[in-house]
Parts: sequence; C-alpha cells; structure tokens
Amino acid sequence: MIEASLKQLSAALAQKKISSVELTTLFLDRIEQYNPTLNAFITLDRERTLAAARAADAQLAKVGAGGTAAAGQAAPLLGIPLAHKDIFCTAGWRTTCGSKMLANFVSPYDAHVVERFSNAGMVLLGKCNMDEFAMGSSNETSHFGPVKNPWDLTCVPGGSSGGSATAVAARLTPAATGTDTGGSIRQPAALCGLTGLKPTYGVVSRYGMIAFASSLDQGGPMAKSAEDCALLLNAMAGFDPRDSTSLERPAEDYSRDLEKPLAGLKIGLPREFFAEGMDAGVRAAVEAAVAEYRKLGATTVEVGLPNSNLSVPAYYVIAPAEASSNLSRFDGVRYGHRAPDYADLNDMYAKSRAQGFGAEVKRRILIGTYVLSHGYYDAYYLKAQKIRRLIAADFAAAFKECDVILGPTTPSPAFKFGAKAADPVQMYLSDIYTIAVNLAGLPGMSIPCGFDNGLPVGLQIVGPWFGEAKMLNVAHQYQLLTDWHRRMPSGLGT
Ligand code: GLN
Repeated sequence: MIEASLKQLSAALAQKKISSVELTTLFLDRIEQYNPTLNAFITLDRERTLAAARAADAQLAKVGAGGTAAAGQAAPLLGIPLAHKDIFCTAGWRTTCGSKMLANFVSPYDAHVVERFSNAGMVLLGKCNMDEFAMGSSNETSHFGPVKNPWDLTCVPGGSSGGSATAVAARLTPAATGTDTGGSIRQPAALCGLTGLKPTYGVVSRYGMIAFASSLDQGGPMAKSAEDCALLLNAMAGFDPRDSTSLERPAEDYSRDLEKPLAGLKIGLPREFFAEGMDAGVRAAVEAAVAEYRKLGATTVEVGLPNSNLSVPAYYVIAPAEASSNLSRFDGVRYGHRAPDYADLNDMYAKSRAQGFGAEVKRRILIGTYVLSHGYYDAYYLKAQKIRRLIAADFAAAFKECDVILGPTTPSPAFKFGAKAADPVQMYLSDIYTIAVNLAGLPGMSIPCGFDNGLPVGLQIVGPWFGEAKMLNVAHQYQLLTDWHRRMPSGLGT
C-alpha cells in the first residue's frame, strides 16, 4: 500500500479492499515510527486525522456503493491521506510557516488549496516542516529543526518544502503539497527522488498560503509520479476570487494527455544549463534521460536563455523586496509572537520581530528594505524588474523552437548538513536552474532520472505558459519506461 499510486489507492478504497481509516492508520503508524528521526512533520493530530478518515469512509459507502473501480474514478482522491506544507492555513490545525513567529498560530480559515483537497475527500495527515517562511534550500532555517533526507540521514532534503519531500520519499504519506517561489517544490523533489510540479503563476490560488514573494509564490503537488501529480493538480487548480492574481480559465483535466506518444516532440536544451557548474554525476543522469527521450521519438534542439545568469541576482532583489513588505504584518499586534517585556509600542514591534524571526528571514527583510529604499529603488529593484522581463522574453523566444525545455533541476544532489549554511551565496546557487522559471511565471517540474553517489538526481521539465498537461505527458511517458520514480530509500524499513 505504501508503494501504491493514487489511482491504485482510489480503486482499493472503492472496491472496499481497504477502508480510509485502515489506510490512514498505516501512514500514521509509519509517521509515528520514522518522524522522530526524519522530523518531516511539525504538527500531527491523530484523532482529528482519523475523524476525517471516518468521514471519508462514510462518503465512500455512498459513492462507492457499487464497489467498482469506476466508482473510485468519480471521486479519485476520496479517502486518500495527504500532508500539507505548513505554509497553508488550516482551520483547527496550527500553521507555523516554520517560524517561532507563528509557533502557536491557528488560522480561523482554510487556504483555498486545503479547502479543495478536503472537498475532494482527502484526509489530512499533518503539517510538514519547512524552511522559515519558505526561505531556504535545505530546511536548515526551520525554527522546528532540520529535516533529514531519507536517502542519507546526514544530508539535507532540500528546501523550502523539505518536510513534504521527505514525508513522500519515506512513504509517510502518499502525496503532499509544496510551494515554489524560486525552486522550493522542484529542488527538494530532485534531492529526495520525487516528482514535483510548480504550475504556471496564477493557476493555483494563493489564498491562505502565507506570502513570501507574492509575484513568484505558487503552490503545487509533490508525489511519486507524474500521474499522481496530475490528479492532485486537478483538485488544486482553479479560479478563486479571493486571490487577485488567480486566473479565470476554463477547468482542465491535467491527466488528459498522459498517454500521448512523444514522437515528434521537440525538446529544447538550453546551452547555458549544460555549460558548466553541474556535477559530473548529475550531467550523466540528465544526458541519459535526454537519450531516453530520443528513443521515444523526440528530437532535441539547442536553445539559448542568454539572461539566465542574471536570474539568481534578480531574484535576490525581487523576492526579498516583496518579503520585506509581506512580513511587515508580523508585528506582534494581531497575531504571532509578542515579546513579553517592552517599554512602548515601537519597542514591542522591534522586540517581537527580533525574537520571532530567524537569521535568514532577518537577512531578507534587511535586503528587501534596502533595495526598496528611496535612492536605491531605481538601481536595484527597478533594474531587477527589467531583467525579469528579459528572462521571460528569452523563454518566449525559446518556446518558438521547442515544446518543452529539459535540463538539470539542481547542480548537485543532496548536500551535507552545514555544507552551505555559512555561505548564503552558495546556498542561493542551489536554485540556479529553477529560479528563472518563477521569474517568468512558467510551469516547471522535476522528475527522478538517476542517482549520483547513491543520491537521487532530478530532471527539470519546463513548459510554456499553461503547458502543465504537456509537461505531465512528457514526464509520464518517461516514467512508463524507467523506474527511478519507484525507487525507495532503504534502511527505513517497509
Ligand atoms: N531557495 C529559494 C529561497 O531561499 C527559493 C525558496 C522557495 O522557492 N520558497 O528563496
């Protein structure tokens, strides 16, 4: 059961081979056994989870009355357990965003994504650990301690959705949600051997998703396979009037093209991504994957993304600028940490923020405030916005020559704890291949494509705007041919 796809779980539930309570208990027991080591979850509530599973069973008794797999397809996610990154607000469960600032915060409402999954009948297993306010690439900035990579407990799982990634990789949950501002779904998916998808900006509502950099943040699924991600995206995506950047588009079935053959597919290989800076083992795995695609009938063409070298510097102006504004709401007045002792109102703000935020968050607030300040705004913020436009134009030109872009997700596989913690620039470079995609608002995926020294390697697939179904098709066809996505870390037991 822990290895089953969502489709198989759905069929087993509909055919009454297992109940949602039994399935949920199986995962809760695994969490109990392995979470003390892995630290993937911040908040668990067994009783609340089982109550949701009982409610799903009652629903299943109605819709699955025929006991057929077809009945399962009518409600494809009903009764299946799921974990949420702790950035999504959940009524009744605390939502910490990995920060001391929100360590005791319980939201009065559900995020749109949370609401969507509970309407689909999914059962919430718990809230996953993450870098503080989603700022990080290693999960080392969480107030709740680092998350371990189940492939090697001395290595990071990536970040910021590292708890979600470890939870799926260790089979503590069949699937999880993540968010991606500069790579936080794709990079941890790559480092933990998962399939993760960041949708086109505006496809998934950000309502109730705690804001880091609003023009870049996007929620998406993390699971074992592209087929599972398609089902999850079907539930997540959709217009929401409560998010002013949510796009009003007709509903799509993201599974619709999974089975399409790839003959004639045009793959773009960005020269800049294959130049230098990639580990030899990562390069070998990515090139082998490209060779598999040629076998499937795809052709490759070299494309240029000439401004991609500016993506990390532009991101580290824009994202902190937006973060400094977004995080000004945490002032100790309405919610979040309030300093116990203070002299006056200003002192309360200062002390509450000094105590509530960790070092990386403070660094971002300082950078963001600086680049937005009078006198530096034009030199930094405005220039970064212009670069952002150039990066998007590069992609638009590349997609005139190809259907999807392939490349590495990360320059190296999972690294050791502490390896980059003292040098923020090294840490920021972990996202060198993913950040441009967020700046351009494009959809991107990472799928497992091999191993480097026993650690998973991710292949990045970037689609044109609204190209989710195409990317999922490209990923699924590869997964029919390979079994990297089915590998599971050993040493954790089964
Ligand atoms: N690692 C990047 C950062 O620290 C991206 C994080 C993210 O996508 N949330 O900002």
